[in-house]
Amino acid sequence: MSVRERKFFVGGNWKMNGSYESIEAILKFLTEGNISHDTEVVVAPPSAYLAHVRQKLPNNISVAAQNCYKCNKGAFTGEISPSMVKDVGAEWVILGHSERRNVFGESNELIGEKVGAALEEGLKVIACIGEKLSERESGQTNSVVQEQLAAMAAHIKDWSRVVIAYEPVWAIGTGRTATPEQAQEVHAFLRKWLSDNVSLSISQQTRIIYGGSVNAANCRDLAAQGDVDGSLVGGASLKPDFVTIANACQ
Ligand code: PEP
Repeated sequence: MSVRERKFFVGGNWKMNGSYESIEAILKFLTEGNISHDTEVVVAPPSAYLAHVRQKLPNNISVAAQNCYKCNKGAFTGEISPSMVKDVGAEWVILGHSERRNVFGESNELIGEKVGAALEEGLKVIACIGEKLSERESGQTNSVVQEQLAAMAAHIKDWSRVVIAYEPVWAIGTGRTATPEQAQEVHAFLRKWLSDNVSLSISQQTRIIYGGSVNAANCRDLAAQGDVDGSLVGGASLKPDFVTIANACQ
């Protein structure tokens, strides 16, 4: 039985990968892989496959969009809306991912608005934050993640539908994972920020997960940290290793 204060949470971000054919293999290990009931699992396929993946997966695995816009309809070519994500049956959306911030230039302000719009529509949000290598090396980690989190928090009324993902940019897709101690240090800082700026009970209840080159070999050491409530997994979420990572709480 799990002795965790907060339910372990593992997200799989497939990024811009997959085809009907390759997704079959992922669906197979997700459905046949004996994932622990102690873990809440959410997978995020590309938007083109959201409805397909939702229809194919059992209900104990939730589905997330990797992004959505802040409006429900209109002249926003190329975007998908919170209501569309909901309409195709997905329950979650990832917002503020570092690739959205750094490749597509999304600002803290826009991400905050998107978080507010997604929650308003009834979606749950995986809210991503994290510092770049230069920011870590110049001692700015805490101020960067605090600013990113504050921009989102301003739009959050119901924290029970939010999971915070701390994802240092230098660890995403690089094979360079934060050490369990580095992750714990930032997670503890974020929890204290929630306690000081939102409330003690929200700080105790909100899941803070780690992302950045999590794999089958390092997932348990990360999960053993007191303030690490799971992981957001990119590359390894496309492989059967994802089941091992989802079961890292055991
Ligand atoms: C991510 O995309 O959120 C991520 C953490 O990627 P990776 O696991 O590949 O570093």
